[in-house]
Amino acid sequence: MASFRELLTETKSRIREIDTAEAETAVAAPGAVVLDVREPDEYEQGALPGALHIPRGHLESQIENKVLAKDTPLVVYCAGGTRSAFAAETLGQLGYSDVVSVVGGFNKWKNEGRAWSAPRTLSPEQRNRYSRHILVNEVGEEGQLKLLDAKVLLLGAGGLGSPAALYLAAAGVGTIGIIDMDVVDESNLQRQILHNLDRIGDRKVDSAKKTLTLLNSDVNVVTYDTRMGADNILDIIDGYDVIVDGADNFPSRYLLNDASLLKRIPVVHGSIFRFEGQATVFHPFVGPCYRCMIPEPPPAELAPSCAEAGVLGVLPGIIGSIQAMEAIKLILGIGDTLAGRLLAYDALEESFRTFKVNRDPECPACGPDAGEITIAEYDEYCMPHPKVAPAT
Ligand SMILES: [Zn+2]
Repeated sequence: MASFRELLTETKSRIREIDTAEAETAVAAPGAVVLDVREPDEYEQGALPGALHIPRGHLESQIENKVLAKDTPLVVYCAGGTRSAFAAETLGQLGYSDVVSVVGGFNKWKNEGRAWSAPRTLSPEQRNRYSRHILVNEVGEEGQLKLLDAKVLLLGAGGLGSPAALYLAAAGVGTIGIIDMDVVDESNLQRQILHNLDRIGDRKVDSAKKTLTLLNSDVNVVTYDTRMGADNILDIIDGYDVIVDGADNFPSRYLLNDASLLKRIPVVHGSIFRFEGQATVFHPFVGPCYRCMIPEPPPAELAPSCAEAGVLGVLPGIIGSIQAMEAIKLILGIGDTLAGRLLAYDALEESFRTFKVNRDPECPACGPDAGEITIAEYDEYCMPHPKVAPAT
């Protein structure tokens, strides 16, 4: 049986080691991944910039989900170069072909005055609160930090905005903006689950803020108790990463479309009607926009609102939740969003269908020949306003 010393010496003879000066060059190489195999408490006190952190004990089970290509150059370090030597051998056994271990590790690196930083991490409370996210490899602690840094704007604190806001807040989206100028009415409570009996007569944005803050104190709720119009939309949406559209009228949707194209902010669209709902993502200049899909609004008599046509209360719960899911995917950059696809839900059939939606090369807002759009109030025709008015 080998002693620890013998085992370490034998292991080191089978792997490739580099010193810290060589490591500095190696970590700067294109495509190289710096892998920190120390324990979480060591990592949190300081690490190489951009290091991927997988504690030695989790290496075998996690590395293949985080470093997909087996020929990725891997620069492995620990505190002094022992754990990284064993890790390098294990990585070789797993098929990674370009692995080096840093002699002297982080301690030598830091003592020599090379660049390091204290990585941003979740607090112990956050690690517990978001533990089910962290367990999902596609999210992890890094994804959770992205969610905490993200800013999502909700157009409306109503049927669609309620479930979307609740799930986004629960997920830890750090900034949630809400635009709504209504007060809570008893007839809202059949579906607008942000509000409750105590809030009847309150401003909807205030009620929404109370509910979301009680759910998750990590969330900064920014309220806009105002009518969204041409005069304020560009200022309001500025700086948001994603917009969740729960508007129930055509002029608002076209106004939002044109403003979001100008600001290049993706919009997660949802709409509901009696037993049917739709959702899609308008990703500016990547997929179609609202005008590509619906070039002009239908006549008012063919497009009755919820207030006129009614809606089953669960329906916005389903569509608004899908909107929250798409917003989170956009933030995390995972999966296939609904950009270029319209998801249609029929509650009576209990069926989901998706339809392809293409960009319209003639689109007056996002097409190649579209002129620069000026944001202006839209009438019932909702036509975009060209920057320069045509000569008459
Ligand atoms: Zn378009």
